[in-house]
Formats: sequence, structure tokens, C-alpha cells
Amino acid sequence: MITVFVCSGCGLHFPSDEIRRCPECGGTLSAKELEGRGRVAAATELSVPPEGWAAPHRLVLAQVDGGGLLLALATSGTPEVGSTGRLVRRPEGQLSWQGDG
Ligand SMILES: [Zn+2]
Repeated sequence: MITVFVCSGCGLHFPSDEIRRCPECGGTLSAKELEGRGRVAAATELSVPPEGWAAPHRLVLAQVDGGGLLLALATSGTPEVGSTGRLVRRPEGQLSWQGDG
């Protein structure tokens, strides 16, 4: 299970509540528990990532079952769009994508 944060106003999902308020509509965020299973909606690989991140830096936009779209790190290659897997919370706090198979 992972804890995500859902906007009371527009329903957008966020991986953390450090922003306090939804940047889209200003709504408040409330915690929600999710299984974490989902499907890759988009994935990309940054060869020149932001400072402090190792290259290549891979990102997944996952459509989560029972939830919305969440951004996560991909730690083992860039997954195919449409492939299934699950989100897990890394010890450092970020969400990570683990593909099936
Ligand atoms: Zn909102």
C-alpha cells in the first residue's frame, strides 16, 4: 500500500503533501491509501537530468488503479506505455515504478 494525496477540489493526485495546496485549483489535500497497482500512461528518459540526479533519469506517469495519474521514478529501464506494474514508496520518499515481469 502507498499513501498518496488527493485534491478536495479537482481530484488530482499527488505523491506527497509537501505542497500543502493543489497548484491547479488551490484545494486542500487529503491522504488516501492505494494498492499501488497501475499501468504506464507515459514514460521518458532524461539524458540531462536536473542537478542532483544521475543520468539517465527515467520517469513514469502511471495511471493507478482506484486513483489518478502519478509521477514516479523508473529504476530498471524505461517501461513500455500500457505495461502494468506497481508503485512503491522508496526510503528516500519518492515513488518508484516496478514493472511486472
Ligand atoms: Zn485541485
